[in-house]
Amino acid sequence: MTAPLPPLPGAPWIAHQDGELMVEQVALPRLAETFGTPLYVYSRAAIEAAARAWSDAAPGRAVSLRYAVKANSNLAVLRLLADLGWGFDIVSAGELARVRAAGGDAARTVFSGVGKTDAEIAAALRAGVQCLNVESESELRRIDRIAGELGQRAPVSLRINPDVDARTHPYISTGLRSNKFGIPQARARQAYTDCAQLPNLQVVGIACHIGSQITETEPYLDALDRVVDLVRDIERHGVTLQHIDLGGGLGIRYAQETPPRPDELLGALYARLDAAGLGHRPLLLEPGRSVVGNAGLLLTSVVTLKSSLERHFAVVDSAMNDLMRPALYEAWQDIVAVRPRDGAQRRRYDVVGAVCESGDWLGRDRALDLREGDLLAVLSAGAYGMAMASNYNTRPRAAEVLVDGAQAHLIRDREDVSALFAGEHLPPRR
Ligand SMILES: *Cc1c(COP(=O)(O)O)cnc(C)c1O
Repeated sequence: MTAPLPPLPGAPWIAHQDGELMVEQVALPRLAETFGTPLYVYSRAAIEAAARAWSDAAPGRAVSLRYAVKANSNLAVLRLLADLGWGFDIVSAGELARVRAAGGDAARTVFSGVGKTDAEIAAALRAGVQCLNVESESELRRIDRIAGELGQRAPVSLRINPDVDARTHPYISTGLRSNKFGIPQARARQAYTDCAQLPNLQVVGIACHIGSQITETEPYLDALDRVVDLVRDIERHGVTLQHIDLGGGLGIRYAQETPPRPDELLGALYARLDAAGLGHRPLLLEPGRSVVGNAGLLLTSVVTLKSSLERHFAVVDSAMNDLMRPALYEAWQDIVAVRPRDGAQRRRYDVVGAVCESGDWLGRDRALDLREGDLLAVLSAGAYGMAMASNYNTRPRAAEVLVDGAQAHLIRDREDVSALFAGEHLPPRR
C-alpha cells in the first residue's frame, strides 16, 4: 500500500479529485479549454479563508488589516478584501488608483515605499489616505512642503528600520541596516521631534516591515521589542503615537515550511505588547502573500519534451515573464500534473519556459510522468505571480480566473499581442 499523498498547498480548495486537479468545484482541464493557457487561477474560498484567519486572529483587540496590494493587485481580489472590511497598503500611485477603482477606502489605506515622488505624495494627500509611512528625513520635509501647498496636514508614520534579521531570502529581507528601507532606529527619535518643527505634518504612528516569507515568530518579536523601546522613548519626548504598524511578511507553505498561523503570531505579539503596557494601542498589519499566496496556481501546458546529454526538459507555455519567483529568488514552488499518469514514464524534468534566458525555469529536477500537451499546475502562485509578470520576449501576459464554487469568472483578459506595441511610435524615415 502506498502512503496517502500529503495535501497540496492550497488544500482543501485545490486538490485532485477523480484523477483531475480541481479548484473548488471546477476542473482545470475545463478552464484550459475555455480560457487557454497560461492561466492564473484563484480560489475565492481560499482567499476568504486566509483573510478570515487574519481577521479572527486576535478577538477583542484593535487590529486593522491593510492588504499589501503588490502581492496580487487584480481588482477582483482587491474588491473581495474591501468587501471583507480590509484596508490597503500601497507602494505607488498606480496601486492607489487600483484600490479606488476596486471600491477600496482611501481613508483605510497606508502608503509605504522608499521613493514616493512629489506627484504620488500629492495624489495620496488629495485622496485622503490614512497615512504615509515615511522612509527618510528628506521625504518628511518633502511631504511637509507638498501638504502645505495643498493646504493640508499630512498624516505620517515613520517607517523604522529595526536592524533585525528576518531569516528569509536576502532579496526579500527589508529590516536590516544594510537594506534601503526605513529610517535607522538610532535616528528615529530625532526624526520624530523634527516633525514638530514641520507645520504641515501630523504624526499618527510608527511603522516597520522587516521582510517577506518569514516562517518564524522570533524576527517579529525582535522587531517589536525595538519598536516598543522607541515608542516609549518618543512618547517621553512629547510625541503621541496613535497606532503601531508591524507590516506584513508572514510566510506561506511552498514546500514543507510551517509558518506560524496569524493567531499564533498575534498571540505572541500581544504577550509582548501587554507586558509593555501597549496592548490597547491600535495595531496595523499589512499582510500580502499570506492572504493570496496559497489560493492561486499557474496553469500551463507542456509544449515540448526534450533531452540534452545530461537533463530532461519539459518546455511549457508559461515562463519567467509569467512567474518570476524561481528566476529571481531560486524559489521552489510545487509543480503537479493536472491529470496524473501512472508513473511508468516518470523522469526528472527541468520545467522551463521558452524565454531566451537560462535562468528561465519554473522548477528543476521534478519527478513527473509527462507527454506533450499535458497540463501542469504551478502551485502557491497567488502572490507575486501575476503581479510581477512582464512582457519580456513580447509575450502577452496570462489571463486570470477567479473560481467561486462551481463558477469560474474571468477577472483579467489575456493580453493581446497588438496591445503590447500599441503605444510605440515610428519616427519619420530619413
Ligand atoms: C511587501 C510589503 C508588505 C507585504 O509583504 P508580504 O510578505 O506579502 O506579506 C507589507 N508591507 C510593506 C511595506 C511591503 O513592502
